[in-house]
Amino acid sequence: MTSHKSRQDWDALAQSITIKGQAFINGEYRDAVAGETFACISPVDGRVLANVASCDLADANLAVSNARATFESGVWAHLPPAERKKIVIRFAELIEENSDELALLETLDMGKPIRYSKAVDVNGAARAIRWSGEAVDKIYDELAPTPHNEIGMITREPVGVVAAIVPWNFPMLMACWKLGPALASGNSVVLKPSEKSPLTAIRLGELAIEAGMPKGVLNVLPGFGHTVGKALALHMDVDTLVFTGSTKIAKQLMIYAGESNMKRVWLEAGGKSPNIVFADAPDLDAAASAAASAIAFNQGEVCTAGSRLLVEASIKDVFIEKVVENLKGWQPGHPLDPETQVGAVVDQQQLDTVLTYIDKGAQGGAKMVCGGSRVMAETGGLFVEPTVFDNVNNDMAIAREEIFGPVLSVITFDTPEQAVAIANDTDYGLASAVWTSDIGKAHKTAKALRTGMVWINHYDGGDMTAPFGGYKQSGNGRDKSLHAFEKYTEVKATWIAL
Ligand code: NAD
Ligand code: MN
Repeated sequence: MTSHKSRQDWDALAQSITIKGQAFINGEYRDAVAGETFACISPVDGRVLANVASCDLADANLAVSNARATFESGVWAHLPPAERKKIVIRFAELIEENSDELALLETLDMGKPIRYSKAVDVNGAARAIRWSGEAVDKIYDELAPTPHNEIGMITREPVGVVAAIVPWNFPMLMACWKLGPALASGNSVVLKPSEKSPLTAIRLGELAIEAGMPKGVLNVLPGFGHTVGKALALHMDVDTLVFTGSTKIAKQLMIYAGESNMKRVWLEAGGKSPNIVFADAPDLDAAASAAASAIAFNQGEVCTAGSRLLVEASIKDVFIEKVVENLKGWQPGHPLDPETQVGAVVDQQQLDTVLTYIDKGAQGGAKMVCGGSRVMAETGGLFVEPTVFDNVNNDMAIAREEIFGPVLSVITFDTPEQAVAIANDTDYGLASAVWTSDIGKAHKTAKALRTGMVWINHYDGGDMTAPFGGYKQSGNGRDKSLHAFEKYTEVKATWIAL
């Protein structure tokens, strides 16, 4: 899986690659019913990569009816789990076999460095699919503790038609966290990628067919949220809606479900995660290095970005200096250069948002310690420097709102109680981290934090084996691990009198 391609190799591949832009319904590529398209523009250099089908209600109806018919036919849902497993694992292998192409599509489409497209996105997507496939013939149902003359069966069944609406920051990875357990459980899926990053999802449609998945099991509808996304969310024949994206849209989806068929809604939403560094952290250099990558990795476009750095007052100056030093290694570069650590921001709108927050931080009284500007504009790409604000108060906009860019807010505290109070003073509850050598303080703090994930003495750990998701307005339900299967199955109690 390691790539030995040079910048020139990637450039050449980018020139020769065929980019598909059609919807994928019932095993075939096709234009949107209305024939509409939108331009897919690369943030790397501003060029148009493809004209992509702009799906709408008519496409949603077509995809959902095919997904429903496929589900009802049993060609997928009734396959023995061991058989579905083989096909799902083959799907994962095909993702790996096409890893250069998929990584390149991801980088061209949303700007992240090619090294991470391969190592994180494509690799992680294949692992998510494979892990879910491997699990599915090892999950047992239950029997209730009944009286002697009765049997109580507790079984799980696929929900039916799943709509998955996903974001642009890890387009294929977020899609595959949903697709793995959804497909392995026997459901039919309609996947709607973000209009900002449709290309890898489109390619996944045909890889599923190549893997042996029956047509109609995986359908892909590129298009906008307010058109095809809304149509899926309001659809009377979608059983479950799974989503990763902003809290604002997550709330809207709950309304759509209530206005339509009460479809189950599972939400992975935003974050404003606190990274708490105590003066007794075991290794301040390691903590500073992690604090830098926590805000700069993926251009800060990470739901779990460590965007609030809570530092014990006694070490603040020393610690900020170390973070700023580390961020020198996270300056933007060309995304197709294999050495590049930070790529382009996804689009002009997102760049404007980030720059607006940087202005707000400066005007609101915070002290800019580094960064603050757009760079490399002459390339035609959208790049911004990692930016650190000191003297941030937790009430400022840059401490409360998700920026989704490389903008770090540093807040100080004196006691563990204060740290926890500031950390929890947010609408979000996705992730948090605690750095200390005191095991009692580590556990006590971790328990007090109202977040779905807590990292102790590192940042952003995890794997397919552990659940991912948030408390509060960061969402409900969990992706990854066996807990993810709960979203894609209904529980049935069957009671038998003997
Ligand atoms: P977004 O909410 O703007 O869009 C997400 C998806 O929803 C896109 O496919 C979009 O087209 C669609 N959408 C928009 N309006 C819609 C509507 N009215 N009806 C139906 N669908 C609609 O989010 P984004 O900007 O693509 O992604 C960034 C957000 O995702 C951040 O808030 C980030 O924290 C979050 N995120 C969360 C996780 C997690 O696991 N918790 C992971 C990655 C990203
Ligand atoms: Mn794009």
